[in-house]
Amino acid sequence: MKIFVFLQLFTLCVAAVLAGCSNEPTAPDRSKTVFPDANFFYDMIPNDAAFSDSVASHFANGARLRVSPNSSYTISFEIAGEEVPELQLFRSYEKNGSWYYQLARSLKGSLENGRVTYNFICEENSPTFWFTSLVGSDNERYTGSLKKVSFEGEGMYSQSFNLNLVVVGEYTYTSDSLSVEQLAKKIKDGFEKYYKTKIDTIFISYSSEHPEQGRNFSQNRPYVADQMEGKFPALFNVWPDSKKSAALDLILVHRIEQKNVLGFSEIFGMGMLDGGRGVVIATHQTTDFAIVQQSSESVVMVAIHESGHFFGLRHTTQTKADADVSHDFSVKEDGIGDTPWCPPIALKGESVDLAYFNRRKLFGVNVFFDCPDSRNVMYPYDMDEIDDFSFSADQLEIVRKNLTLIAH
Ligand SMILES: [Zn+2]
Repeated sequence: MKIFVFLQLFTLCVAAVLAGCSNEPTAPDRSKTVFPDANFFYDMIPNDAAFSDSVASHFANGARLRVSPNSSYTISFEIAGEEVPELQLFRSYEKNGSWYYQLARSLKGSLENGRVTYNFICEENSPTFWFTSLVGSDNERYTGSLKKVSFEGEGMYSQSFNLNLVVVGEYTYTSDSLSVEQLAKKIKDGFEKYYKTKIDTIFISYSSEHPEQGRNFSQNRPYVADQMEGKFPALFNVWPDSKKSAALDLILVHRIEQKNVLGFSEIFGMGMLDGGRGVVIATHQTTDFAIVQQSSESVVMVAIHESGHFFGLRHTTQTKADADVSHDFSVKEDGIGDTPWCPPIALKGESVDLAYFNRRKLFGVNVFFDCPDSRNVMYPYDMDEIDDFSFSADQLEIVRKNLTLIAH
C-alpha cells in the first residue's frame, strides 16, 4: 500500500499591504462606509457546503469572496436578534504600489427564521476578489455574532469544458510506457467517466512551443516543479489558439519537489483564461527513499482529483496540511450531505496518518473500511489498491454550478 498526499491550495491573502481608504465619495443616502479591517482574510469559495467558524467570526471585519463577471450571488447567515446589518462589499485596487479599497455594493438584508439573506450581481469585467464588512444600525462595525455563513452563486459560463495537457520539460513516461497521445486519451476518457460529461477536445501542448515560456522550459530535461512557485500553474495559460487558451490546463511535469505530493491545485481556480491557473500533475513522485514512476491510472486519477479542487471541491475530510494552507482549523470535512468523512484522520498531520495506517496494516485490518470516504475521488490520500472511485451526486452538482462561474 502506498499513501500519497493530495494538496488543496488556497491563495494566501495577507492584508498588511491594504490601506483602508478610498477616493470614492460617500453618497448622502448611504450609511457610513466601514472598510474591511483584518490582518488575514479567510476565503469564501462559491457553493462551498462547509460552514467555517473562522469565516463567521471574521466576516464583519472582512472575509474574501471570489466573484466572477455577470454572476448572481446570495450570501446568508444565521443571526441572533432582530437587527439586520448592512453588508458592504469592496473591490481592491493598486495605485502607486499601495492597495486601496473601493466600495462596490451596500446591501440591505432580509431576515427570515433567524437567517439574513443578501443578493447581488457582480458586474466586474473579469474574475476578482471582493471583501466584506458588516455595518450595524449605529453606523459602526456590526459586533453581533454570526453562524453558518453561506455563499452561493451561479454565472454565465458554459458547463462544458476542454482540456489542455501541457507537457513541461522532457516527457518521462508512465510506468506502463504510455505515449503522451495515449495518456491524453486516457485522461479524456477518465474525465468523461468521473465528471459524467462530454469532453470535446483534449489538446496536447509542449512547454517549448509556448510563445512566451518556450525558451525557459526546454523539452530536453525533466522538469521538477516546486509547489511554492505560486505563479507556475498560470504560466501556460495563453496560447495562440483561443480554444486552447480557454481549456483547463493539466500541467504535466516529471515530479513535484515536495515528497509524497502527487499533484496540486488551488481550490476554485476562478479562471482557465488569461490570469487563471491550471492543475499540476506528474509522471513521478518524490518519496523518502526514491523517485517512483507512476502508472497511467494513477496520473489520470490525480488529474481528476486535482481538477475537483479547481472546480471548487474540498477534500471529503480535511487534513492538517489543508488547514495549514487555509489557516482554518474550524473546517473538518466538506459539509456535503452525501459524502461521508473520516473523524480519525480529520486535521491530522501526515506523520500521524501514516502511523495510523501502518498500524492498521500491521494488525491485518483493512484500512479502507476504516475511512468511509476512501472511495471518494476527493479523499485526501491516494491508495492504489482502490480502483472504484466516484464523485457523489452533490459533488457533481457543485462542479456544475461552479463551472458557470469559472471563466472559460
Ligand atoms: Zn486534494
